[in-house]
Order: sequence, then structure tokens, then C-alpha cells
Amino acid sequence: MSNIIAVIFDFDDTLVPDATNQLLKFHGIDVDKFWKDTFSKLTSTGFDPTLAYLKLVLDIVGEGKPLGCLSIQQLNEFGKTLDTMFYSGIPKLFDDLKAIVKGINEFVSIEFYIISGGLHAIIEGSEVVKNHFTGYYGCLLGEEGDPPRITSIKRAITFTEKTRYIFEINKGIRYIDAMSDPFSVNKYVPKNERRIPFGNMIYLGDGYSDVPCFSLLAVHNATSFGIFSPQDKVKTQNSYVNMVQHNRVQSIHSPFYDEDSDLGSLLRVAVTTLASSISLRLQSGYVH
Ligand SMILES: [Mg+2]
Repeated sequence: MSNIIAVIFDFDDTLVPDATNQLLKFHGIDVDKFWKDTFSKLTSTGFDPTLAYLKLVLDIVGEGKPLGCLSIQQLNEFGKTLDTMFYSGIPKLFDDLKAIVKGINEFVSIEFYIISGGLHAIIEGSEVVKNHFTGYYGCLLGEEGDPPRITSIKRAITFTEKTRYIFEINKGIRYIDAMSDPFSVNKYVPKNERRIPFGNMIYLGDGYSDVPCFSLLAVHNATSFGIFSPQDKVKTQNSYVNMVQHNRVQSIHSPFYDEDSDLGSLLRVAVTTLASSISLRLQSGYVH
């Protein structure tokens, strides 16, 4: 049962430059002003950061407003435009990792997931995501009207909420089933029946919203990598130091996934090591 490896990625600034910022820029909105003025004002009054940005997005949807009558379909279409913007080495990485695993033991497999506080409708528009990921989780928006426009928040993925999806992956609750049954994550699944043990997971993320996932997986000796953008001076001074200082991640790298980049190479090594150890356990008959 535990012959599956899961590589789980945050989305924004981990696989692709922040998609919400790109959406705002595409509609001529001043991104710095959006985050520094309006967003900070809400979070300083107690708004959860994820709910604050979702509210701000909804506030600027409508006739004559900066995002216009934005629909889910339009967000899907915008997501498709991200396909040319993925960081170097994506999507080749996914085929390479699959080949590595298959070369070690044909009974070991690897799956890819995204857990993001960004917009689900943008992520699902990407062909790269559709073609390579078993599951992808993001904030869900609801739409109403004819023609439809987004009007509500159906599901917000806040910092700790990200770990919920790690449990869904761990328990083998299919993405599509969890969508229609949000309570399914709480069903009891004995440890030896869980589809993907935490120790078979590798997690990659760039920010504060990933810290609960780093912490959960660290308890289970899973491998986590931090993603680093040297250009981002604010983050360089705060969150990156925070990630390394407290052993939340094994190491921090720029988001380049080619075979000859440090992260791309380390990921291939991490998957090789994990697949070899699962293969050994399979051959010795010790599955969990
Ligand atoms: Mg991110």
C-alpha cells in the first residue's frame, strides 16, 4: 500500500511567479498598492490574510470595476496563459522523476500535487497542471448571474488549512470526492491503511503559508525544500531566515528545476533515495 511517493508543491512563487499578482497586473491594478495599502489595512483589523485578499478581489469585480465581470471561465483562461511562465525545468521535471522511480522498481509510483492559497480557477486552467498533477487545491470562488460573475468565497485555504489537504492525500481521499464531501477528511483511516504515508512525501513551498506543512512533515521525517527568490528583499530578511533557522526545511533554493540546477538535482536525489528505500521494503515484504 505504501509504494506511492507524493511530491507536493505550493503554487505561487514555487512553480510560477505569483498568479494573483499577474491577474491584477493584467487588469492594470497597482500590485504594490493592493498589498501594501488595502490588504494590510484589513489584516491589521483581524482579517485572516487569505480571506482579506479574497474579499479584496471580490470587491473589485463588477461592472465598471477594475476586474470587470470576472467569471470562473475567464479565470480558467487566464490560468492557461501561465503555461509559458512556469519556472525553468517545469514540466520536464515530472517526466524525469517518473522515469527515475520506474527505473528503480516498477511497483513504486510517484504522484504530484499542488496545495495553494491562490485561486483554484486559475490553477485548473493550466494545461501543465491538468497534464501532470493528480490533485490541486486552491481557494474556490462561487459565481452567480447570467452571464456569470464571481460573487462568493466557497473555500479558503489559509495557512493551517493547507495541512488538511496533506491529510486528504495521506488518507487517499480523492480530490473529486473531497470536493463534494468536505467532512471526509475527518474519517478514521488506520495508519497502515493510509494510501501515502507522510514519510513518502516531499514538500516544496516559499512562504509563511507553508510553515504548517513544513512542521507537520518534519515530525514524520519527510523532506521539505524552501523556495527562495533573491529579488524579494522583504522575504529575504524575514521568512527565509525563519525557515532555515528553525529546521523547517532541509535547504532553500531558487525555483529552478532543471537537472543541473541545485534544487532540480536535489529533488532527483531525494526521489531516488525515497524510491530505493520503498523498493527495499517491498522486496523484503515489509510494506509499512
Ligand atoms: Mg507561495
